[in-house]
Amino acid sequence: MSKTASTFKAKSTIKAGNLDHRRKINFNIGKYNATVPQGKMQFDDLMMARQLAKNTKWRAIEKLDVLLEEFEKNISARGAKVIWAETAEDALKEIGKICKAKNCKTVVKSKSMVTEEIHLNKFLEKQGIESVETDLGEYIQQLDNEPPYHIVTPAMHKSKEDVAKLFTEKLDAPENLSPQQLTQFAREKLRKKYVEAEVGVTGANFLIADTGSVSITENEGNARLCSGFPKTHIVVTGIEKMLPSISDLALFLPLLSTFGTGQMLTVYNTIISGPKQNSESDGPEEMYVILLDNGRTNLLANPKTREALYCIRCGACLNACPVYKNIGGHSYDTTYSGPIGSVITPHLKNLKEYKHLSYASSLCGNCTEVCPVKINLHELLLENRYESVIEGDSSVSERVAWKMWKLSSLNRSMMNMTNGNLKNKVVNNLFKGWTKHRASLHFSEKTFNEMWKEQKGKQ
Ligand code: SF4
Repeated sequence: MSKTASTFKAKSTIKAGNLDHRRKINFNIGKYNATVPQGKMQFDDLMMARQLAKNTKWRAIEKLDVLLEEFEKNISARGAKVIWAETAEDALKEIGKICKAKNCKTVVKSKSMVTEEIHLNKFLEKQGIESVETDLGEYIQQLDNEPPYHIVTPAMHKSKEDVAKLFTEKLDAPENLSPQQLTQFAREKLRKKYVEAEVGVTGANFLIADTGSVSITENEGNARLCSGFPKTHIVVTGIEKMLPSISDLALFLPLLSTFGTGQMLTVYNTIISGPKQNSESDGPEEMYVILLDNGRTNLLANPKTREALYCIRCGACLNACPVYKNIGGHSYDTTYSGPIGSVITPHLKNLKEYKHLSYASSLCGNCTEVCPVKINLHELLLENRYESVIEGDSSVSERVAWKMWKLSSLNRSMMNMTNGNLKNKVVNNLFKGWTKHRASLHFSEKTFNEMWKEQKGKQ
């Protein structure tokens, strides 16, 4: 077993038995489940909307090369600089160069999973640059020195009491502040950082090819301040965030809001098409867009797994997943957790090291059921399992066991050779790991043919 797999198993085993963790998660996912139906009511035909979204993403991903160039051409025409980064290291190197040129001491950041993926904060820290998370959930996680727990709600596993305690410990805040007071307290701390920062970093929820724009969705207004206040704005985004046209936002913005948080529309939706223009009074003097591959083209190259690139990172599949709800986001030890994380991580990183994630699923299909862009998540998990077996990543004992299972299942006379007791012994010994967390397999004492004959004799 790989080190990543054994860490995952150990962390999951501990978390699954932690009732306090389960209580907090159930509470927060319960609130999400109560709001989502209200958001869904805005769609006359939700199934049609989801299918349309899937078709649009299909078009975008099938001609991604063309659309990326169209995006580059259009946004460059308004003065932004586009940088293509094949790996996380390439992206960091470019960000490092920009920060150095601007003599940057402080960076303000809005929520972005891609910057988590490339470990931007650690990189900046090493360069002696302070990187401040300005999304409240991310700020809480940064204070606690923890990565985000969830792709939409980074501090989902913390109660309001946990956050109040953290603020007292780390920021000397008065004890037992209410959520409103905590928000105000964080806001006061963060406001002056926007003014100090030389560089602002954001992600992108969508890239729009026909206008050459970046669309950012958020509830706190902090991304607007990160992109508009500092003199330099850097967008770090995965190449798959592409939409063909700005008119597609009419569908994707409400869809993302509904499935992400249950809102009809997220509070702030910002479309940025370049740095400050001559006729404009505010905005950054320079804008860079870093288009990151970092393994995404591995998914793109395979017509089956390509579908995973349709993801709009709403987090609905995490909230619906019985495994995620029991083991929590941190057990995965990956940037992207839950069903979508288990699908894409083996391709973004390494199939052999991360194949265990594709087995961490009951295959109930609830993730597929809730996905706004109808990604067949549970089938993609099976595809990952298949690919890992084909690449020879299964153990010899497992391969022998399944071969024998197949041989005997296809051979009636073999199945009839022994009674149920012997079959129980053989199978339960062959699949040793099976009974560790499950009941043993039990065969019927009589074979199918014996029962058939008995039945016929009675007639
Ligand atoms: S896979 Fe679907 S449900 Fe999961 S985060 Fe992506 S868009 Fe949302």
